[in-house]
Parts: sequence; structure tokens; C-alpha cells
Amino acid sequence: MPAPPELTDFRTALLAWAPSGWRELPWRRTRDPWTVLVSELMLQQTQVGRVVPRWEAFMARWPTVAACAAAPQSEVVRAWSGLGYNRRAINLHRCAIAVAARPDGALPAELGALMALPGIGPYTARAVLAFAFGRDVGVLDTNAARVITRAAVGRPVARAALQRVADEVVPVGHGWEWNQAVLDLGATVCAARPACAACPLAAVCAWRRSGGGAREAGRSPPSRPHRRRGAGLRLPRRRRTRDADRRRRGRRRLRHRTGRGAGAEGALVGRGHVHRSHSRIMGSTRSGRSTWRKWPTPGRISARDPGLRASAAPRAVSAPRQPSSSPCR
Ligand code: SF4
Repeated sequence: MPAPPELTDFRTALLAWAPSGWRELPWRRTRDPWTVLVSELMLQQTQVGRVVPRWEAFMARWPTVAACAAAPQSEVVRAWSGLGYNRRAINLHRCAIAVAARPDGALPAELGALMALPGIGPYTARAVLAFAFGRDVGVLDTNAARVITRAAVGRPVARAALQRVADEVVPVGHGWEWNQAVLDLGATVCAARPACAACPLAAVCAWRRSGGGAREAGRSPPSRPHRRRGAGLRLPRRRRTRDADRRRRGRRRLRHRTGRGAGAEGALVGRGHVHRSHSRIMGSTRSGRSTWRKWPTPGRISARDPGLRASAAPRAVSAPRQPSSSPCR
């Protein structure tokens, strides 16, 4: 939070920039609470360019809360198509019904009452208070939070603390233009990669004075991170172990079948594959499926499986070793 003399400079610089710097947007020509609410809900997670025509069409069709409340929900959702996140349209319609049922049929001008309405969270409630009722509250979306964090605080702080700072830096009686200016500065100048040279707050910005701007300027442009598919997913430890075991077993079986690779010193013995290190016989059924059996002692092969021994004996390793004591795991 800037000290009082700096705070004055901070406010003066931004308010002087505001009228010339911000964008001309249709919902800035009105203070009607319903109109402001619709624009704010549409702007959440949707770019301004896509919102403008949709907002104009929506307001032409349902210019009042009562008109929207009387419309079928399906119609409101259909009019929302193209903006995405249709849950917002459903909430807006529910909100319109709730407001229409109020004695005055109008949106309330208190933070708590606004937040009690369907689909209205802290950001939207503050936006309605500032842009419709001209209240001196800080409106913090992602862009505004970035500006306040950098310019007024100079370092990352918890959201609740940032909201307090945002509320305190609003110049008394200028809540509307102040918040419009902060939002626009965050969207156009103090973006993720800030254009500090063109910023009206460059002289008073806490982050820039602490060297943040210079560090950012020296950085190479952010590249699209190259990520393996599935990278970033953190599987539970048991699942990771199980998958690793499965891959290890798969590699081992492949070595057995092909006779290649480390540990594949087994010898093919007709229908069976004798693997010394694993002490087993891998036989093949007629359908071609592999079967595993415990390695019997050489003297017992004929007794238990004469066919296998007959086919295996001529081609078996000349002196099959005794199986090791450690079984395959
Ligand atoms: S000087 Fe740079 S970091 Fe500070 S508010 Fe302006 S653009 Fe953002």
C-alpha cells in the first residue's frame, strides 16, 4: 500500500490516464444495474470482442429484469450460445426471477444482498456496486488484481489482503472511473508481460521501483511449454508402482519371446522356452498362448511331460543348469 503522498500521485496518475486510455465499450454508457449485471456475467471468461454483439442482442431482447424473468430459461440459454459456460445464463435467469420477486423488483445496492442472489459472487457484486451504484469498492478480477499487486503492493499477497488494499486505494467519490481504469490498465498495459514504458503508473509503481520491470524486460519471451502428454498428472504412489511393475514385466516377457536383450539367455526348447535365470518353462498352447510353469528338475521332465521333453530334449541347451533358488518376481 503506497504511503499517503505516493497514494495521491498514484490516484492522480491513473485518473488522468483513464478517459484517454480506456476502451469504448457499450455498457460504459449506462449505470442501469441490470445492464451492468448482464455485461459483467458475460465478461467472465469470455473476451470483450465476443461479448459486445451478444450483449447488445441480449439487451435488445430483455432490457429489464422483469422481461428476462418472464422468459423461458431455454430461450435465455439459447441467446447465450456462443459465449460458452451456459451455467452463467441459467444463473442469470434464476437471478432475474429472484430480483423480480423482490418488493421493489430491482437489484439491491448492498454487497451482502447482492451476493445472496443466484450466480453473483464477490467480484460480480462489487462490479455492480461500483459500475451501477458508483460505490467506492475495489473490483478485483485477474487483470485488476495484477495491477494492484504490482503497482500498489509490489509483491504477491493473499487475496483477502489484496482486496483490502484494492478497497483502500479507491479515491473517494470516484469508484466508477477508478475501477474502469484499473481493469483497462490490466487488460491493455499491465498485462502478464507489462508494457511499463507506456504505463501511467510507471513513476509510482512499487513493483517497478523494486526492479521487477527490469527483470521482466530482461527475460526471454515466454515459450509454449513442451509437455509430455499426461505430464503434470501425479498418480497415487500405489498406482505408479503398479504401472512400473507392469511395464517391467512386459519388457521381461518381450525379452523371453524374442530371445534378445539383457537377461534373455534362455534357450528355445521346442514348444517350451527354458529360462535359466527365472527357472521356468514357458510353453505354448495350440492356440499360441504362452503358459508359464515352474521349472521341474531335469529328471522329472519326462515323467511329467513326455511330449515336451521329446521335443525339447534334442534342442535344449546341452547342459541345462539347475534353476536358481530365487524365483521370478
Ligand atoms: S509500471 Fe509496469 S508493472 Fe507497474 S503498473 Fe505499470 S505496467 Fe504494471
